[in-house]
Amino acid sequence: MNHPIVFLGAGPGDPELLTLKGRRLLDAADVVVYAGSLVNPALLDGVRAEIHDSAGMTLDEVLAVLVAAWRAGKKAVRLHTGDPSLYGAIREQMRLLDREGIPYEVVPGVSSAFAAAAALKAELTVPDITQTVIFTRIGGRTAVPEAESLRRLAAVRASMCIFLSAGMMEQVVAELLAGGCPPDTPAAVVEKASWPEQRIVQGTLADIAAKAAGIRKTAMILVGAALSDMETETAASKLYDAGFSHGCRK
Ligand code: SAH
Repeated sequence: MNHPIVFLGAGPGDPELLTLKGRRLLDAADVVVYAGSLVNPALLDGVRAEIHDSAGMTLDEVLAVLVAAWRAGKKAVRLHTGDPSLYGAIREQMRLLDREGIPYEVVPGVSSAFAAAAALKAELTVPDITQTVIFTRIGGRTAVPEAESLRRLAAVRASMCIFLSAGMMEQVVAELLAGGCPPDTPAAVVEKASWPEQRIVQGTLADIAAKAAGIRKTAMILVGAALSDMETETAASKLYDAGFSHGCRK
């Protein structure tokens, strides 16, 4: 039996934020195709596989490499930044594999959304503030359905992790303000979360665009009242509240 092709989440950058399963699969791989612009090449140190950078490859070329490896009985890994289920374009790759009857599996990774939250030491779901997190982006070359434009999502007042949008910071802020987010809503930009060169900029919707002006790519924008220390201090989790019983403590 040939090994299924693996779509593997590389995590946000720090090689130690790759799962143990991911490490094992990478070390055992014969062929690896990775997104050179986003995946930390340090993850591939010591990997004996034949390595392809997908940066300059079309979808067809990526698949041709993976399929050829699979047909030859080799172990093929498609390495995606963060978690493959978020903005990973894995669906179009999997659809083509389905058509050829080629098996594959997906191994999750630590999304940059969580690495950014960790860098900020933020809890995105704070009781009495919000219990919802929205993963989204601003519409650019890839359109976003109108029903989920930032302007509309602003009305939910949830914590927001905004991918792929650091280059359009002014528009992001304008949309959120137009949608009714107060200008003093906490906002942060984390560039290259978990990389050695990680950079954090914190502010509010009123000043975050100016403060983060130099940051254009590989950055996560986080927005929401949960990021405010002042408010979170008053909203200690009910889980540890003496008056709140749950499955483990009556
Ligand atoms: N699947 C990935 C996201 C791919 S889309 C994940 O789960 O993280 C690429 C976008 O992810 C970038 O534009 C940026 O917004 C974000 N991103 C990826 N790596 C990042 C990092 N180390 N720090 C901050 N943002 C990152």
